[in-house]
Amino acid sequence: PYKRRVLLACVSLAGLTAFQLIGPKLVGYAIDTGLDVTKEGGVSVAHGSLRTLLIAAGLITAAAAARGIFQFWQSYTGEWVSQRIAYDIRNDIYGHLQRMSFAYHDKAQTGQIMQRATQDVEGVRMFVSLGFIRLMYVVVLLIATLILMVTTDWQLALLSWVFIPPTALIAIRMTSKLRPIWMHVQNLQGELGVVLQENLSGMRVVKAFGREQYEERKFNAQAQKLFENSYATNRIQATYSPIINGVWAFAMVATAWFGANQILHGNLKPGDLAVFMLYLTMLQLPVRSLGFITALWARAGTSGQRIYDILDAESAVQERPGAVELTTVKGHVRFDDVSFGYDVISPVLRHVDIDAKPGEVVALLGQTGSGKTTVVNLMPRFYDVTGGAITIDGVDIRDATLATLRRTFGIVQQDVFLFSATIRENIAYGASNASDEDVEHVARLARIHDFIETLPDGYDTWVGERGITLSGGQKQRISIARTLLLDPKILVFDDSTSSVDTETEYLIQQALAELMKGRTTFVIAQRLRTVKSADQILVLKDGNIVEAGRHEELIKREGPYREIYDLELRDQEEAFEQERDRLAQIEADAGAGAVASVAGSAG
Ligand code: ADP
Ligand code: MG
Repeated sequence: PYKRRVLLACVSLAGLTAFQLIGPKLVGYAIDTGLDVTKEGGVSVAHGSLRTLLIAAGLITAAAAARGIFQFWQSYTGEWVSQRIAYDIRNDIYGHLQRMSFAYHDKAQTGQIMQRATQDVEGVRMFVSLGFIRLMYVVVLLIATLILMVTTDWQLALLSWVFIPPTALIAIRMTSKLRPIWMHVQNLQGELGVVLQENLSGMRVVKAFGREQYEERKFNAQAQKLFENSYATNRIQATYSPIINGVWAFAMVATAWFGANQILHGNLKPGDLAVFMLYLTMLQLPVRSLGFITALWARAGTSGQRIYDILDAESAVQERPGAVELTTVKGHVRFDDVSFGYDVISPVLRHVDIDAKPGEVVALLGQTGSGKTTVVNLMPRFYDVTGGAITIDGVDIRDATLATLRRTFGIVQQDVFLFSATIRENIAYGASNASDEDVEHVARLARIHDFIETLPDGYDTWVGERGITLSGGQKQRISIARTLLLDPKILVFDDSTSSVDTETEYLIQQALAELMKGRTTFVIAQRLRTVKSADQILVLKDGNIVEAGRHEELIKREGPYREIYDLELRDQEEAFEQERDRLAQIEADAGAGAVASVAGSAG
């Protein structure tokens, strides 16, 4: 996309090279015409004129200035193009990661992706500015210098060229030794990133289990490998660079020696030798950078490979061409003989049938690992079913656009994630144009408003990594508020793990009741209130629905529901009633304001 800029860089490059190559010729002119030294009777006599010397000096300065201007344009445009390409690739990677399905993110290592989005992009950037544009420079300079050398003096040229192949070979050999280690270093950096990232996000576990030393050793071992390999690359460079320098110095000495002899025998003008030596110095750059440039190509190759691993990964969930928009959804959800497995070998759901009419509440119960979360993950197409079909109002969800499908759902997830932002921004996450009143309204409905009011900065309090830490119950109610704001047609509430104090439970219960009004709802929660009033209770076991019906029917059977009820739900009845009575009492005693302060301290 940046052809014009690249062209500009190339033109500048040509100008730069031309003026660079003129320099030595002007020096030669100054020496031979400006000075024109000859030996007469054992004494050196200069026949030149000051005027010619001044002209030569002026031309040399002008050439240097012109070269400087072209050099500026060349590095400026070259850098612009390379930075811009890096910027584009970074955005591509980020955008692509946003579009990948859950299946990809389940397996992808965050540290590795971070490494690729930073270090590998840098590898490609270096290639563009130094490997690609520089390569053209080097090639042009090499060819032009060789031609100019041979036209200056062919004998000297032949002599000095003898040294080019060995120097180039040593330079290339150095990089071929460096290349595999560089690649290894890149991988090691990624692995180190993984260790660091996992350590930081798992810090609570590390501390709880007193594994700081183990973690330190783990990091240390990884860092040690990185150190050894990085050090190995330096050792190789430190060994080879002096050898190259030595060979080149020898070439200079040999050429100067031979050239001086030629001058003594009158076969060569002193100016020509000066020109020649300057070209030889100039030649050093392209010859030496051959190795460096091949290394850049190699690094860009591996970096590009690692970047394309991300960019070429196809999302397992694809939007069908010509997919329809789900606009006015009533909320009739059907699972028709649905089977699913996260991988081919182990099925997680088997032949599941669900029929949730608009506005119905469906409660999913079952042991952990029975497939409850999986059931709800299939509806917004976080994963695609492997057998059967899911329909919404009769439309197969695979025929709908992903954007409209997902907008149909409001999901309160099992693990609530809050961004490093204010509470207000977190609540308005899915509806960024929501007004302050809207945010406050849903916070009230979610029974979290009173708590937020007790915070020093209210809705502008920062949460997440850079802000205050909220309890599980508080986070969950913020998540409920966030979902309420979307006003979704179909609601998913996944909260199988929570066991909170009765007061919080009471508040969540109320928030949830608010949330479910007029929506088709799927609840995964061991909450008696919700389960009791559900239109359908589905009991899952090993990916099968083993029992279905309403509370009153199921309680009479001696089946799996009855078992869950006796073990987990029954006790809640008493606690709930006590809490309700207690709050009613406080309310009666002190008026409506007291509830606010109770709610504020809850959580
Ligand atoms: P529940 O929510 O009822 O506790 P899940 O639906 O989370 O159960 O899990 C059902 C089964 O699927 C479990 O055996 C679990 O190990 C497996 N599972 C869940 N998530 C994944 C995943 N992302 N990749 C592979 N297997 C998974
Ligand atoms: Mg679950």
